Amino acid sequence: MTQTERARRVLDEEFGPAGGPVSVVSAPGRVNLIGGHTDYNDGLVLPMGVDRRTVVAARPREDRTVAVRSAVFGETASFDLDAVEAAVDGAWSDYVRGVADRLQGRGYDLGGAELAVVGGVPMGAGLSSSAAFEVATADALAAVAGHSPGGELVDVCWEAETEFVGLNCGIMDQYAATFAEPDSALFLDCRARDHEVVPVPAEAVTVVVTNTNVQRDLVESAYNDRVATCQEGVDYFRDALGEPVTALRDVSLAAFRDHEGALPETVRKRVRHVVSENHRVREAADALRAGEFGRVGGLLNHSHASLRTDYEVSIDELDAAVAIANGLDGVLGSRMTGAGFGGCVVSLVRSDAVDEVTAAVHEQYLDETGIEPDVYACTPDGGVRRHES
Ligand code: ADP
Ligand code: MG
Repeated sequence: MTQTERARRVLDEEFGPAGGPVSVVSAPGRVNLIGGHTDYNDGLVLPMGVDRRTVVAARPREDRTVAVRSAVFGETASFDLDAVEAAVDGAWSDYVRGVADRLQGRGYDLGGAELAVVGGVPMGAGLSSSAAFEVATADALAAVAGHSPGGELVDVCWEAETEFVGLNCGIMDQYAATFAEPDSALFLDCRARDHEVVPVPAEAVTVVVTNTNVQRDLVESAYNDRVATCQEGVDYFRDALGEPVTALRDVSLAAFRDHEGALPETVRKRVRHVVSENHRVREAADALRAGEFGRVGGLLNHSHASLRTDYEVSIDELDAAVAIANGLDGVLGSRMTGAGFGGCVVSLVRSDAVDEVTAAVHEQYLDETGIEPDVYACTPDGGVRRHES
């Protein structure tokens, strides 16, 4: 049974069979190839959609209630469209409440609906199941009411996550879940909020994600600390350059080199990472366009070294997963992806070596750390999609 058929079946089982039209919408998880900690510095990232999707089947109801069944949780939640409030206990349904609230806040006239959600994106595994969930449920609510928000889904879902759920994230995840394209990555400018499509041809290379299955408590405090240190860098360069600098995005490599001696060591290291990482994202996009996959791999390795020694957000398990992958035949390069202090490593692998690589990474990482990893080979997939009813 396909995910789409499963979603329809869950809808009928939970809410009873009905004759009316059913809308089916899906949105992908994502992985960021390169561009670590650049998003909140108004910089560049290179995410792609993955072939693990969250699917929602939806149909209208007569009243103003939205009822949502999540197959993953085996739970049903409901709320009133005229009194949307966050649930008291930080429930999964907050994401749906959030997107309903933000759609209505932006003038979309919604109606009551029944939704069945089948999750194909593993949760908390670094593939952004939350954005896939937001984008798929938002577009399903819109579809049932006869609307097509298109690119506006990015802001609707980003606002839901930042303002409603309360997680202070960049726009990359919602953007990728909305705009991703098959066989491609998005060269995304987080300041301009626009993108160029760059090819990731499946016959040549495959992206392999290794979840270290480690998460340290440090993530949040370290994240806030890095944001603050980057701001110190911005303040320095605003005064020093005498030009408008509102984010590290505005600092070129040349300007950094001219001034690095004047910066306190920690600020210097953090700024060096962000400025050089933006440069690497541009280079990686160029290299993908040129089909120079070995060069892309080298850039991933440099990115990891910079995140480890300059930004200082890696841990032993991430370093181990990178070293293990890079020691295998067919692996072109690897780096940690995401906030750090745990989470995932992304590797670029020659497609003919993927099966051996995923098996060997699994075995050697388990052997070395005693922790069972999850290793996924990902095919670049398209963004939010409405399926034939
Ligand atoms: P991730 O890195 O996967 O995005 P998050 O913690 O940001 O991790 O988001 C995971 C949360 O998103 C889950 O705990 C749940 O609240 C919500 N979620 C994601 N997918 C689903 C789903 N299919 N059904 C219900 N809730 C979901
Ligand atoms: Mg998330």
